[in-house]
Amino acid sequence: MKRVNRRKFLGMAALSTGAVMIPSSCITTDGTKEGETSLHGFSEPSKNIKIKGNYDVIVCGGGPAGIAAAISAARGGAKTLLVELGGCLGGVWTSSLLTFIFDFDKPGITEEIKERLVQLNAKRNTTKNNFVYSPEPMKLLLEEMCAEAGVEFLLHTRVTAAYLDKNRLSTMITESKSGREAWNAKIFIDTTGDGDLGALAGNGWDIGHGGDTCPCQPMTLNALAVVKDVGALEKYLSFYNTEEASMKEHVKASKAFKKEIKRAGIKPSYGDPTLFPVKDNLVMLMVNHEYNIKAIDAAEVTKATVEARSEIHHISRELNKLGGPWENFQLVASADQIGIRDGRRLHGRFTVTKEDLVKGARYEDAVTRPKFGVDIHAPDQETNDKQTILRGGIVMKPYDIPLRALIAKDVDGLMMAGRCISGDFIAHASYRVTGNAVAMGEAAGAVAAIASQSNRLPQEVAWEEAEEWLETSRKSISKNS
Ligand SMILES: Cc1cc2nc3c(=O)[nH]c(=O)nc-3n(C[C@H](O)[C@H](O)[C@H](O)COP(=O)(O)OP(=O)(O)OC[C@H]3O[C@@H](n4cnc5c(N)ncnc54)[C@H](O)[C@@H]3O)c2cc1C
Repeated sequence: MKRVNRRKFLGMAALSTGAVMIPSSCITTDGTKEGETSLHGFSEPSKNIKIKGNYDVIVCGGGPAGIAAAISAARGGAKTLLVELGGCLGGVWTSSLLTFIFDFDKPGITEEIKERLVQLNAKRNTTKNNFVYSPEPMKLLLEEMCAEAGVEFLLHTRVTAAYLDKNRLSTMITESKSGREAWNAKIFIDTTGDGDLGALAGNGWDIGHGGDTCPCQPMTLNALAVVKDVGALEKYLSFYNTEEASMKEHVKASKAFKKEIKRAGIKPSYGDPTLFPVKDNLVMLMVNHEYNIKAIDAAEVTKATVEARSEIHHISRELNKLGGPWENFQLVASADQIGIRDGRRLHGRFTVTKEDLVKGARYEDAVTRPKFGVDIHAPDQETNDKQTILRGGIVMKPYDIPLRALIAKDVDGLMMAGRCISGDFIAHASYRVTGNAVAMGEAAGAVAAIASQSNRLPQEVAWEEAEEWLETSRKSISKNS
């Protein structure tokens, strides 16, 4: 476990004057003058940062978990800010061009998103739980839903520091084209996927199989392509011609597609390359795996992205040369953000483990019940080619995620939702899919709204209180829609 360097926030008096006073002296503890480089590194000068806003709830990270947390908190009456580093909301759904959703059978915001995707003609080939969606309409939908709920949101803004008042997270710092800005909130929710805010605040965390070292699950860069005649590619497309998205058909299509890539002279780095029919002649291409990359190492993620993009272009060019149904196969866009399966998991007041999956655990403070199985993408290309998905040596039963796994252990006033909640490697390989991320976000947002408005900490709010409010709110939303 790595604890990131933390500076306790001492300048509470400064809040009333509208500035964060980071205690400063011209000579640092190792004797280096501020603004100078020594053997110990560059000593960054301290400065006052204006407080840009005071909120009831701040949500960091606008992926599936983050948008749900922010919408839920704002609907609960909390003054809510959502901060996202990318140029759109949606995280893996949009910036990473995912196009497929698992475990989406929950009430509340998942239902609303499903209904509105249908209205936008952006959802196809569905079971109750799983379906294909179009990523571009999803961007617009999430912006509209946040605005309608009264969420204030910022794009192109990264959370870069966090400060505590005693043990309570009170201020975070962001960086953007506006420079460094400080923000106060009563409750913060970390939905950055990689647990950035929690780590900055000094909460404990694990990555991969534990501690701070990978092996981690491989990353994948997705891409969109247009084809001349989607019908001519039918046998290579997952969930093309069926009312129901069947996994059996997906496996068959993926095998046939892999044969074609091999016929084009390439062995793809992902053992189950996939083509999803998004809409009309638009398809999504998931053909690549980047192995053993650490999500919190920018140089490694950059290298993975460059290699992945090169592989996707290579495969597309060579498929095109096969002619026939592949003639005029054209890449439209590779994703802005490589898809990250495995980042930091923040330590919480409860840790969801493999044993919970084996016994199908039930908890009184259950916020959601994942059904998606353990999905560990093999850690190297050789294994991946033979057996792409590993199941962690267990047969899982649907299990509960308790609210306690969404409340940070070491830092007060901090919650988390989505990929970065408190769980072990195996459990994370199941609950990480987006239906669960949305349900966790919605629950965290409700608890944060109640806590912030009643001056309590999240652990002092009984789940029943939030559940009751969620039920009432859902009824009123469905009545008015
Ligand atoms: C290749 C791939 C395929 C997958 N396949 C499926 C599938 O078929 N179906 C399915 O349901 N799930 C699938 N998943 C899993 C799922 O997409 C993720 O686990 C899910 O997106 C988790 O949601 P999240 O909101 O926790 O995180 P993310 O979607 O990762 O969102 C995190 C957000 O936080 C932002 N952020 C990060 N750091 C900061 C910061 N410091 N400051 C501000 N913002 C920040 C990011 O830009 C991002 O928008 C897949 C994942 C990958 C990578």
